[in-house]
Amino acid sequence: MTQIPSSPVITQRILDWFAVHGRKHLPWQQNKTPYRVWISEIMLQQTQVSTVIPYYQRFMERFPDIKDLAQAEQDEVLHLWTGLGYYARARNLHNAAKQVLAEHSGEFPENFDEVLALPGIGRSTAGAILSLSRQQPLAILDGNVKRVLARYYGVAGWPGEKKTESQLWQLAEQNTPNEQVADYNQAMMDMGATLCTRSKPDCDNCPIATHCIAHQQANYAAYPGKKPKKAIPVKTTTFMLLRQGNKILMEQRPPAGIWGGLWCFPEASKESIEQSAGQLGFKVTAQSELSAFRHTFSHFHLDISAVVCEVESKTSSKVNESQQIWFDLANPQKIGLAAATKKLIDQLSLAQSQL
Ligand code: SF4
Repeated sequence: MTQIPSSPVITQRILDWFAVHGRKHLPWQQNKTPYRVWISEIMLQQTQVSTVIPYYQRFMERFPDIKDLAQAEQDEVLHLWTGLGYYARARNLHNAAKQVLAEHSGEFPENFDEVLALPGIGRSTAGAILSLSRQQPLAILDGNVKRVLARYYGVAGWPGEKKTESQLWQLAEQNTPNEQVADYNQAMMDMGATLCTRSKPDCDNCPIATHCIAHQQANYAAYPGKKPKKAIPVKTTTFMLLRQGNKILMEQRPPAGIWGGLWCFPEASKESIEQSAGQLGFKVTAQSELSAFRHTFSHFHLDISAVVCEVESKTSSKVNESQQIWFDLANPQKIGLAAATKKLIDQLSLAQSQL
């Protein structure tokens, strides 16, 4: 086995590949500002580029700068995030924008520690924002970069372990150049997304294949190491869809916990739907069930049942108007909806259109 080339040699090969094959026309690569790069980096966490593009464009159209975002209602921010998932990202983004407005007069900070102090921004995201938009020579280590480095250098541990993560950070830093850092970091992300993919790496076209350990061993699946398997628990819930005509009662979830701040249907026990509706001040005249489904979070599965309850009247003295609304299926309000809520609304709308 020949010796792995020095960092500058590896870096140059990656930069040469980027010059020809790298992505240079994504919306956030135009008119690069820290704000535009920041929004894209947060949206791209756990989400693919093709999914992010229309969300990014709508978001930037509505919130062209930090001040617009900081001054928006959280509901509107969550509404523009509906369908992207991992809603804590949107809440953090909104809180961070407020912090930038309050503490930095609305100017995105240029100092790494100040960026890292913003909600929802970790070391890799701070590095990406400042390197891509400000050419600061900072390393990044997102999921794509971890995969490329782990395969190239044969790092077999699971990156969720501190020891493996530190080893990967060290490798990332040693290869990150002082010049052309934006191109290099973008190249690493692009290589991970387009060449060194999870299940089918295109090693034939990889600029660093010659000394790649995973390639030499023809065992890319071993790198990086997998998270030790742990069975995730299954929870169940039943949503109560109180309906009159096109209107469905929804309530806003508390800020913390799953779907924090998003709008959802009241939860109830399947065996005592009428009683639960009664506690909200409604009399149920008919019931029907929608198809049950499973929604999977990172730490548990949630099996969701939904019962549609026709109610006699929309009037109730027990409805708290600041936390409950009658959602209009025919003319939907612009509010943040959890993916599961959206799915149920789509089921309902479909059922109504077939009547
Ligand atoms: S040679 Fe293959 S496994 Fe190695 S870094 Fe390139 S694409 Fe990934």
